[in-house]
Amino acid sequence: MAETVEQAPLEWDTPLFNTARTQYEQALPYADVGDAVAERLRFPERATMVSMPVRMDDDKWHVLPAYRVQHSSVLGPTKGGIRYDPHVSLGECAALAMWMTWKCSLLRLPFGGAKGGVRCNPREMSIAELQRMTRRYTSEMMSVIGPQEDIPAPDMATDEQTMAWMMDTYSMQKGYAVPEVVTGKPISIGGAVFRAEATGAGVVMVIERACERLGWSLDGMRCVVQGFGKVGAVAAAELVERGARVVAVSDVSGGAYAEGGLDLEAVTEWIHLHRHDLIEFPGAEAVTNDELLELPCDVLVLAALEEQVTAENAGDVKAAMVAEGANGPTTLEGDEILADRGILVLPDILTNAGGVTVSYFEWVQDLGRLFWNRDETRFKLREKMTDAFDRVWGLSEERGLTLRSAALVAGIREVAGALTARGIYP
Ligand code: NAD
Repeated sequence: MAETVEQAPLEWDTPLFNTARTQYEQALPYADVGDAVAERLRFPERATMVSMPVRMDDDKWHVLPAYRVQHSSVLGPTKGGIRYDPHVSLGECAALAMWMTWKCSLLRLPFGGAKGGVRCNPREMSIAELQRMTRRYTSEMMSVIGPQEDIPAPDMATDEQTMAWMMDTYSMQKGYAVPEVVTGKPISIGGAVFRAEATGAGVVMVIERACERLGWSLDGMRCVVQGFGKVGAVAAAELVERGARVVAVSDVSGGAYAEGGLDLEAVTEWIHLHRHDLIEFPGAEAVTNDELLELPCDVLVLAALEEQVTAENAGDVKAAMVAEGANGPTTLEGDEILADRGILVLPDILTNAGGVTVSYFEWVQDLGRLFWNRDETRFKLREKMTDAFDRVWGLSEERGLTLRSAALVAGIREVAGALTARGIYP
């Protein structure tokens, strides 16, 4: 019987979930976790999959697959983004939910991990279609989300407007306003100031701290940023503010490269006018996303999507430091090659944790109906990011681990410690 169960392929068995699982297995021996607790944390607690009818503007109906995966509720409600993308799958959500668990616990936030999304092509959808889809998604997930159960946030191709529709749909069903059901909302309905910039700003806080440890200065450094969305655009601007030169950025269409440094305001304006056509940005050399990853630079920020640095291209990455703003942008093989080549990787669960940290601040403020200002928020974010970075750096030195392994070990230890204290029910 046990053999049959083990051999049956699991629904979330995909390359990305395999990456998350393998990272977990590799970290376990250093995390001092009992067998039962280790086994409990190997898979998500719950996965919800629905097929969802959405009326398009031409009055045709599309039935779309949609997901919400919750990995661990040991430390508190689960937390994680909602993405709209043609590749969303149960396995992808499961992997991202697991990483969210380690990220939240590494930052010592009272949350577990979740992730969800709809398999669709958001770039081909109108605002009205996106709104209908978001409201239907929220209705479908009513029974598994909630301020004490699971709190969604923006992710790829979703934004504060998406969160406003989710909050409204949830609140309409409840009969009163429930701002604390989502984070990353507009400030007018309980969003936190600085939430929109938090992930990108956090990425640069981690880069800065790493530079301090290494005796490097960001001033004058050459940086390349893949993905010019909510994370990448802010990270690029923050790098420039610290005196670095951003020589290339990209979006889904490709990238723009200028040896003297790009004018980021002009790039932002271009993106607003030409929704994702950065490859045609005037006054810069056009590069493909593959070429962009191989440009010589000091810091390469990955802020687009998963599985970008792989066995095929890791040998050609010419950065001294890779900062993972995206989730899972480096495959297991890619990671090994970068480590062998002495390229420092600032791992996703640490580097992009600024977003969930300010989401936590937002949830706390919504629950208390008491709001903080920008300086307070930025200060508290820096404290959290610096504390997590220093613990990871210390553990990596003490145990001779890569920063990724050290971050995972630190995160797993927190959740496992809590589950051991609570005990596995019943
Ligand atoms: P976004 O949709 O705002 O931006 C994504 C960017 O990546 C866009 O510029 C898009 O054009 C580009 N892109 C999409 N497909 C691409 C492809 N195939 N090749 C190259 N570029 C491509 O999303 P975001 O919120 O900035 O998220 C980016 C990454 O950061 C994701 O991995 C997400 O999970 C992660 N992340 C986001 C947050 C957050 O607060 N938004 C927090 C933590 C992690």
